[in-house]
Amino acid sequence: MKIVVIGSSNMDLISVAERMPRPGETVGNARFMQAFGGKGANQAVAAARLGGEVVLVAALGDDLSGRAMREHFAAEGIDTSRLVTDPENATGTALILVDAAAENAISVAPGANFSLTPEAIGSLDEVLAGAGMLVMQAEIPYRTVREAAFAARRLGVPVLLNPAPACRIDAELMAAVDILVVNQTEAACISGLSPDENPLEEVAGRLLADGPRNVVVTLGSRGSYLLNAAGSLTVPAFRVKAVDTTAAGDVFCGALAVAAAGAELSAEALRFASAASAISVTRQGAQPSIPTRAEVEEFLTKN
Ligand code: ADP
Repeated sequence: MKIVVIGSSNMDLISVAERMPRPGETVGNARFMQAFGGKGANQAVAAARLGGEVVLVAALGDDLSGRAMREHFAAEGIDTSRLVTDPENATGTALILVDAAAENAISVAPGANFSLTPEAIGSLDEVLAGAGMLVMQAEIPYRTVREAAFAARRLGVPVLLNPAPACRIDAELMAAVDILVVNQTEAACISGLSPDENPLEEVAGRLLADGPRNVVVTLGSRGSYLLNAAGSLTVPAFRVKAVDTTAAGDVFCGALAVAAAGAELSAEALRFASAASAISVTRQGAQPSIPTRAEVEEFLTKN
């Protein structure tokens, strides 16, 4: 099933050292790693590894990172024909400093991600034709998310929106969403009710009243919760030894998109997404940690 992801792509430059440098100071002896990231790209890679026919719409700079990403996406089997090259801005980059206590300091330069306007994308109708799901996050211009959601709604393509990083969503956009996926921070920010202090049904109920057909709240190691007109459903997380929860939510969204495209959102779909994200937290990194469909199927038969 064709899945269109419209979102961000970042190059993560990670430097791990004994301690953080103070302003004006240089700390040597760091260990350096480079990794593909950005919520849009993470979710696209997850959906592709899990069996979706993925078209990624993202803006990259005309630079080394951008060229490396194109090759990487193609190697993942992602359709790269809708990638946009921005000659004026660098590819989105996150500079990540990590110290021995795993504390981090991150500077994100969105660069080309912010030039992913509806005009840069071109015909949304062409991009979305025949798709079983449109997947978006909030690391690109808000206007693009709105217009793409409205186009998808008009064409009968379901919209999965993961409003991360947490942002406010207007009523018209909310009403165009089929599956709203939020973690606890995003749920609190958008509903105005903290899941720590209020019953989950109330928090999710407030979000559902805003107009999406389904609300999914992810709860880390406590699993996930679905609320829609038919009722609610809690899916526990799989018990695994977590080593790095980076991108757990992205893997969950990419997997849910594959499982729910062209089908009803079911307990089975949530279980599939939970299994994929559970496997990912047992491995280091964002995109390197994403399992294949075969790995998830094997995990599901064993657990
Ligand atoms: P985010 O990464 O956006 O903060 P969560 O932390 O809620 O999102 O994680 C998303 C999903 O990943 C959860 O609903 C759960 O299914 C899975 N997950 C996250 N952490 C763990 C964990 N420690 N063990 C097993 N599954 C996990």
